[in-house]
Amino acid sequence: MPLHIVTAISELPRHGYRVRCNEINDRGEVIQSKTFTSRYLFLAAGSMGTSKLLLKAKEKGTLPRLKPSVGQNWNNNGDMVSQRSNLPKPVIGKGGSSGAVVENINNTQNPISLMNLEDWFGGPGTQRCLTLAMTKPKGFFTYDRSTDDIKLHWPEQENTDALLAAKVTYTTLDGSINTPTTTPKSDINVSICAHPLGGAVMGKVCDQYGRVLNYQGLYVVDGALIPGPTACTNPSFTIAAIAERCMEKIIAEDIHNKRYALQRNDHSQFVAARG
Ligand SMILES: Cc1cc2nc3c(=O)[nH]c(=O)nc-3n(C[C@H](O)[C@H](O)[C@H](O)COP(=O)(O)OP(=O)(O)OC[C@H]3O[C@@H](n4cnc5c(N)ncnc54)[C@H](O)[C@@H]3O)c2cc1C
Repeated sequence: MPLHIVTAISELPRHGYRVRCNEINDRGEVIQSKTFTSRYLFLAAGSMGTSKLLLKAKEKGTLPRLKPSVGQNWNNNGDMVSQRSNLPKPVIGKGGSSGAVVENINNTQNPISLMNLEDWFGGPGTQRCLTLAMTKPKGFFTYDRSTDDIKLHWPEQENTDALLAAKVTYTTLDGSINTPTTTPKSDINVSICAHPLGGAVMGKVCDQYGRVLNYQGLYVVDGALIPGPTACTNPSFTIAAIAERCMEKIIAEDIHNKRYALQRNDHSQFVAARG
């Protein structure tokens, strides 16, 4: 439902889940609070959103049997933004380079992909790239009771290692451009994160089909499930493919075959109650 922000999830006494949310307007103001109950609950709020809901639920005791790894094994997918300059000017037209991906899997420090963006952000002879490395899933969230919010912790060393590895690849690339008039130069700018992954990962918090361990009918089908970087690529296709794989299995086994015996029969699929 658009303009509905889930604030809390909990289990029902016999079977199913309760979802509390705030309906907001397009200025972000809360119009009303609502509660939904459901037999099955699929979390698809992304690595940040799902990790937050699950960690809060564990810490506040509304889903107490979640595995201790909830909120852990997070990573930034090795994202960096880099600026190249002093490149040979384009021969034809006034546009920039076409988009391309350069993979350096033989980088001894860390495999690296460079994705050069099509625009000439800094004018002719420059190029901005998204750079991706294989960072380890060493990030984790903690819950702060005083603010009722979560905080992300990410070791700076992971960024440092990725930036060093990127430097190796850029140096190789720059050295291979041989013109008498230009000396290409690459400045590795900053580590960023447009691709958060992990927090409820398969094998630790969920099984390999997104079924949350210790909770029947509760599922994670988003980036929170991914247990590491997506191999030097941006991750949305990997997330979507894994979510589809989960859904095929869950529909066939859990829902059609009623894998989880229902302990109550008074449950319509969704029951909404305003409160
Ligand atoms: C600027 C930018 C550019 C990107 N470009 C690419 C690209 O080119 N290629 C690529 O593969 N990936 C790209 N990505 C990454 C990609 O968007 C994500 O990896 C992917 O969308 C994650 O999918 P997801 O299903 O895990 O979560 P999301 O797609 O983030 O979906 C989560 C949804 O849940 C909602 N939500 C969160 N919390 C709550 C809550 N409490 N209540 C209700 N709703 C909630 C969010 O609003 C969102 O709609 C980009 C990301 C950014 C930020």
